[in-house]
Amino acid sequence: MDLSEEGVRRVVADRSHLGASDVTEVRWASDFRPRAALADRFRAGRVFLAGDAAHVHSPAGGQGLNTSVQDAYNLGWKLGAVLRGGADASLLDTYEEERRPIAAGVLGLSTGVHRGEVRRGAATRQLGLNYRESSLTAETRTAPGPARAGDRAPDGTVNGVRLFDAFRGPHWTLLGAAGHVDGVPESVRTLPAAPQSYGPGVFLVRPDGYVGWAGDTAQGLRAYVARVGL
Ligand SMILES: Cc1cc2nc3c(=O)[nH]c(=O)nc-3n(C[C@H](O)[C@H](O)[C@H](O)COP(=O)(O)OP(=O)(O)OC[C@H]3O[C@@H](n4cnc5c(N)ncnc54)[C@H](O)[C@@H]3O)c2cc1C
Repeated sequence: MDLSEEGVRRVVADRSHLGASDVTEVRWASDFRPRAALADRFRAGRVFLAGDAAHVHSPAGGQGLNTSVQDAYNLGWKLGAVLRGGADASLLDTYEEERRPIAAGVLGLSTGVHRGEVRRGAATRQLGLNYRESSLTAETRTAPGPARAGDRAPDGTVNGVRLFDAFRGPHWTLLGAAGHVDGVPESVRTLPAAPQSYGPGVFLVRPDGYVGWAGDTAQGLRAYVARVGL
């Protein structure tokens, strides 16, 4: 690209509603080329890739930062669980398992937006992404309702408490268990019900806001709790 003042004027006149003379001064110009790439692996032993180091997008989709922050949250609580909670180190493998397919999908999406083939919409808001197929997800109900294990736990209100406020922080949240549940540590915030919009069941919400486990009752929760280092 011609980065001279004349070159910039020409591009502005050709590609926008402005005329060449509307550009009165060019203080700084650089050539920007979007890059799209995905790392083959997000983990090699003690090394983890997150954010743009793992996936770079065209900025057209506005997806890079959102995806990167979710990588960090996904990995962060797992590192804490293994280093402090005594969870098995295999929990860390679920970082790549969960995040790489999401990054690959988002990369395809942002490339489509960049090429003008896809419009921004529900997909670019990333609110429908889920980990239903993750090996870390346990849906144990016989007839799951609208909110399923692996889904981003929806907002709602329980006894005047807004769920997105209750979820905020590094803790787990248990919805739908009246009183203390055997084997579930005090660090888990417990609310006695889940909103109707979730459907019936008991839901254990991960620190990154996804439903990790769902059951008809709180029975069976103990094995899951041990797996995730709670
Ligand atoms: C023009 C543009 C527009 C964008 N718009 C959006 C948007 O609207 N929405 C969105 O979600 N995303 C957007 N993005 C993407 C977003 O900026 C990135 O996805 C996000 O910044 C990635 O964060 P990161 O921490 O992984 O990497 P970075 O933000 O690149 O951070 C990496 C840091 O590491 C430092 N570093 C590098 N090497 C070393 C070293 N050897 N030692 C020490 N430090 C080092 C760098 O200086 C940098 O500070 C846009 C990107 C661009 C370029």
